Amino acid sequence: MPYLHNPEDLARLVEGEPAYRVEQLREWLYVHPVLETGSMTNLPRSIRESLADTLWPFRVEIERSADGGRTRKWLFRTPDGVAIEAVLMAYPGRATLCVSSQAGCALGCTFCATGQFGFERHLQPGEIVAQVAYAQGFLRLIGMPGAPDHLTNVVFMGMGEPLANYDRVREALRRIIDVMGMSARSVTVSTVGLVPGMKRLADEPWPVNLAVSLHAADNELRNHLVPLNRRYPLEEVEDAARNYFEKKRRRISLEWTMISSVNDGADQAHGLGEIARRLKAHVNLIPLNPTPLSPDRPSDQATIKDFVRLVRAYGVAVTVRDTRGRDIDAACGQLRATTKV
Ligand code: SAH
Ligand code: SF4
Repeated sequence: MPYLHNPEDLARLVEGEPAYRVEQLREWLYVHPVLETGSMTNLPRSIRESLADTLWPFRVEIERSADGGRTRKWLFRTPDGVAIEAVLMAYPGRATLCVSSQAGCALGCTFCATGQFGFERHLQPGEIVAQVAYAQGFLRLIGMPGAPDHLTNVVFMGMGEPLANYDRVREALRRIIDVMGMSARSVTVSTVGLVPGMKRLADEPWPVNLAVSLHAADNELRNHLVPLNRRYPLEEVEDAARNYFEKKRRRISLEWTMISSVNDGADQAHGLGEIARRLKAHVNLIPLNPTPLSPDRPSDQATIKDFVRLVRAYGVAVTVRDTRGRDIDAACGQLRATTKV
């Protein structure tokens, strides 16, 4: 499973071969990834065959397409039976991949399908990087309508809490940025507010974007929606976000899942407006994707419109995320949810 090897250790896979073979293999894995070893045209057949069954640390179990081919979702399965989801979204001039950092999640946010299933295990750096490599190979060799032939953005917004798997996610970031050559500014790590991880990330060399999933503007409501808030309350999360912004000079984005009659009222909008103004942050509203184990519903259009107006009055930039791939369960943890339930 080459992606599970540290790129610096690839020589072990082609032992006895000249050094340039190692470089060729590194390029096929990290610079212009292929979907099958057969496409590694400058490597001898013996090497291609020896890697054929182990190129990927997972196999593709489900592949679904939506939005006229502009959204593609994969459910990968590892040899130990773990499901990993990734979603590729094409926009004019842009191709964004949403990757998973853990199988499941221990943090139990009430509205999240991943949280509802609990924690299975951390993903290895190579299992995270292989999601990126697979999408790169897909874009280059198969392509998507209207999309560039390479990824322009990677967001850690799939299954799992990336900062709860810090060291492995850090190594994945190193490979994505330093070995694959993606710009750190085109990578976004989304966290529900794991304060120690936010502090560590601020001291890393890469200016990646940080998205903070807020969902509530007071501790009482946030304690309920995001149980981790009891450990790291809003004030600490805000301080850690400010520290990140000040060290990296990258604008923070605040994510807010819009849940009907739960967090879509005027009080919450004012609270969010104030926090976002203090942090000079951008706000991203995500209409809830209903999940099997919760009766929660998304906010309706008129409520979202009012909410946006109230937050914008604080001089804050607000966007509402499109509901890409809803018909293929493209939201966080949802493809896995429908295959298991
Ligand atoms: N654990 C990290 C990253 C993964 S979740 C985090 O929580 O930020 C990525 C985003 O999807 C988060 O903003 C999360 O709140 C949102 N999300 C989770 N479940 C959702 C659902 N059912 N509908 C809409 N957004 C959801
Ligand atoms: Fe975990 Fe994020 Fe889902 Fe919360 S929203 S349960 S932190 S994956």
